Amino acid sequence: MKFSRRILEIKPSTTLAITAMVNSMRAQGIDVLDFGSGEPDFDTPQFIKDAALDAMNEGKTKYTPSGGIPQLKKAIISKFKRDNNLDYNIDEVTANCGGKHSFYNLMQVLFDEGDEVIVPAPYWVSYPYMISLAGAKPVILPTTEATGFKITPEMLANAINPNTRAVIINSPSNPTGAAYTEKELLDLAEIFKKHDILIFSDDIYEKILYDNFKHRNIAELVPKLKSKTIIVNAVSKPYAMTGWRIGYIAGDKEIIKHVETLQSQSISNPTSISQYAAIAALTGDQTALDNMLAAFAKRREIIVNGLNEIEGFSCTKPDGAFYAFPRIKDVYSLPGWKNIEQEYNDESNSIKLSSYLLKEAMKYTT
Ligand code: PLP
Repeated sequence: MKFSRRILEIKPSTTLAITAMVNSMRAQGIDVLDFGSGEPDFDTPQFIKDAALDAMNEGKTKYTPSGGIPQLKKAIISKFKRDNNLDYNIDEVTANCGGKHSFYNLMQVLFDEGDEVIVPAPYWVSYPYMISLAGAKPVILPTTEATGFKITPEMLANAINPNTRAVIINSPSNPTGAAYTEKELLDLAEIFKKHDILIFSDDIYEKILYDNFKHRNIAELVPKLKSKTIIVNAVSKPYAMTGWRIGYIAGDKEIIKHVETLQSQSISNPTSISQYAAIAALTGDQTALDNMLAAFAKRREIIVNGLNEIEGFSCTKPDGAFYAFPRIKDVYSLPGWKNIEQEYNDESNSIKLSSYLLKEAMKYTT
């Protein structure tokens, strides 16, 4: 069978592959904790489920406008006003099937061959593939612990070239949990002001922050950059709604129009029932998040402290999101590493180490 060049160039999502492995181990009766995909282990709050049940019972189970029903768009607009102090018109927002789909749409409507998108690393695994699927080139901009896993104005300025069309800012970040301060964003803004490039602000973890860190958005901080900023957000993470698949975009109305045209010819519309649930999530009782946040904060202490006790591991405290990003490089100079390296067959050392740890842990399960 001949397959398209596009599909042959991409690999399945590693995080989803790890979750599939966990599910298969659980099916065999093995008690395993899943640190694979980024998913709150809480249930969707009841009032959100009730809104979906009401929608079903009221027959709101038909096609909707491709970018979502007007009530959802209004809820998205009021969320941006309440949380980010940003004003959008109804034709500047659209709803999609999850934040991943929001990005996929954006890449498809904005980029062609020859276009480049700067992706600060470490990054959420899907960005580069979605950029490649649009025919464009992901330009990876590596960061290290030394800059707190964040890009600096100098790094940004050096990475921009005439083919650069956009830069992704994901704060707090998957997978490092690093978040940009107001000052850091203002400094980056000085570079953005000098170039005609788009800023993708991936705000999906904006509500999951610790130690009173306040999320800021570059569009709010620098009104001059609002027209160049496209914000992507979703109900998935903050409201424990990963399976409902509702994400949303705010930005330039021409971009929104093209995204909706693409949706009309690809998915028709995000699921009607989920749209009603998303309205409840965005406009309802926001304190539902508090319990989740308190649990995440406690787990952050346990996991970061625990990781730092392991020989060869070190881990900085994430500002937000629910990830820990340990440095494991020093493991590779420990005496036992040579055996692990030879025993496990993978091109990536981190996967070799993960497989070894999983196998070792199995010895302690009943
Ligand atoms: N952006 C980041 C940084 C993510 O980590 C994820 C999911 O893991 C998404 C966007 C997309 O989330 P979803 O499609 O579940 O709304």
